[in-house]
Amino acid sequence: MTDTDGTAGLDRRLADALERLGHGMRSLAQRTAREHGLSPLQQQAVLALAQHPRNRHEVAALAAEFDVTTPTMSDAVAALERKEIVTRSPGTDGRRRSLTLTATGEEVARGLSSWDDPLTSALAGISEHDRAITLHTLLRVIGGLHSAGVVSVTHMCTTCRFFGRDEYPDPAVPHHCHLLRIPLPLAGLRTDCPEHEPADAPASKRKQRATPQ
Ligand code: SF4
Repeated sequence: MTDTDGTAGLDRRLADALERLGHGMRSLAQRTAREHGLSPLQQQAVLALAQHPRNRHEVAALAAEFDVTTPTMSDAVAALERKEIVTRSPGTDGRRRSLTLTATGEEVARGLSSWDDPLTSALAGISEHDRAITLHTLLRVIGGLHSAGVVSVTHMCTTCRFFGRDEYPDPAVPHHCHLLRIPLPLAGLRTDCPEHEPADAPASKRKQRATPQ
């Protein structure tokens, strides 16, 4: 086998492993959602409403987050309203409807919060060094998929306009955040940063901020 064959084979095996991981997580999500009388998409919406800031509590934002159409997410939210898990109220602009978990919804979200425990338990057996490298690698892959239009919305460092790649010689702390003005260790890269702004956002849509140094 040549080096080229070896690299191609490695890439194929990595793609197979990621596909297998995705399949396993989808099965796990289906099982936990079913246990709570929800669809997997309804489960994702409940967890997002429990964890995300209020400015992402709208049907369109949730649809973009989970790569489904707005009507599909609207149907999922309507089902959650019928189950008295979610309510809608006027948003800050008075027009858009902001989604809120009811007391029942909060309880459901607490019950769902450990849905991915089998994954975190499997990760706990891996050294911190290897987990940090894995996080960095996965965020680079997701960044590449975002650039290719496969993944639409992320709030991760590798798709952020403030991300300074490879600015330091330390392999454990190579990157920099130009908004927070701090070095970013591999283990500290963010997967859901409230300050994230897409690297490819049109200038007119960016929030008013100082230009990165
Ligand atoms: S603003 Fe957040 S997502 Fe963007 S580079 Fe800084 S820490 Fe990462």
